Amino acid sequence: MTKKIALVGIGKIAVDQHVPAINGSDDWELAATVSRSGSVDGIPAFTDIDAMLADRRDISVISLCLPPVPRFAYAAKAIAAGRHVMLEKPPGATLAEVHELDRMAKDAGVTLFATWHSRAAKAVQPARAWLADKTVTAAHINWKEDVRKWHPGQEWVFEPGGMGVFDPGINALSIITEILPFEMHLKHATLEFPENRDTPIAAQMQWSGNVSGDFDWRQTGPQSWDIRVETDAGVLDLTDGGTRLKIDGKEQDTGDLGEYPALYQRMSELVATSQSDVDLRPMVHVADALTLGKRVIVDAFHF
Ligand code: NAP
Repeated sequence: MTKKIALVGIGKIAVDQHVPAINGSDDWELAATVSRSGSVDGIPAFTDIDAMLADRRDISVISLCLPPVPRFAYAAKAIAAGRHVMLEKPPGATLAEVHELDRMAKDAGVTLFATWHSRAAKAVQPARAWLADKTVTAAHINWKEDVRKWHPGQEWVFEPGGMGVFDPGINALSIITEILPFEMHLKHATLEFPENRDTPIAAQMQWSGNVSGDFDWRQTGPQSWDIRVETDAGVLDLTDGGTRLKIDGKEQDTGDLGEYPALYQRMSELVATSQSDVDLRPMVHVADALTLGKRVIVDAFHF
């Protein structure tokens, strides 16, 4: 049966991914939006979450596409009003916030889904399956993109809670925590902070298990969203943000569902089975980097 859903925070990702994924699914009907300035053609638009929750009791699921800092207050209101909630990544500004939402959702008997869109990329599960019985000898994340291209003018990414380069970097962490057949923990990190910003623009990380990562937001030219895993039985390359898989250089079959359609399909299953899905491991690694990392100051950054 089709479920009515409201999208909150009509910005870049809502328009680029959430609206097409909802419209392309038989499970969902986009029934309202909440945004101070954004809207979707033909869909009832609210500027206030309280008004939407009060007026539209027929809408049972709320998908929050806001940046992480304002998200907690919206999620808490939706859960308190008995709605199921989907969170964009990263699921909150702090870990404690998300633990609290998880407890609130359990008490209210509603579903909370902390989504990781890159984990839903079509080559991630095939990579996980291949690695399951291998001995991993080393793994490396190479996640380098141009912040001016992907976050044009989005000042919030450099404000406290915006996570800087870990806003995209957490996508790599959501993949590596899914595919490796062991848990890793951070051993050391170097974080590069522009002298005029509150969040890092680059990071070099070293975890246990001989896992390392280079994250950089100053990349121009070719962009890299790649993970290489070396094992006793060959080398796995998961490239293009988890959408392509090669084993020893040979291209492998992948799934065919896109990331956001897969997330909405999963949300449909979670609601139908009264479950939640809140895996905070990717965010733990970011928090650990900000706790343990050595900080170096680099050139000022301006959009
Ligand atoms: P965005 O366009 O800057 O923001 C989304 C919307 O949130 C804005 O249009 C704004 O709508 C609302 N908003 C912003 N600050 C707010 C505040 N303080 N209080 C209430 N509403 C606020 O950001 P985005 O790129 O869509 O990213 C949103 C989330 O999606 C982030 O967590 C990001 O990591 C994730 N994400 C982004 C991408 C991407 O490529 N950009 C990809 C995957 C995931 P109104 O001003 O109209 O209220």
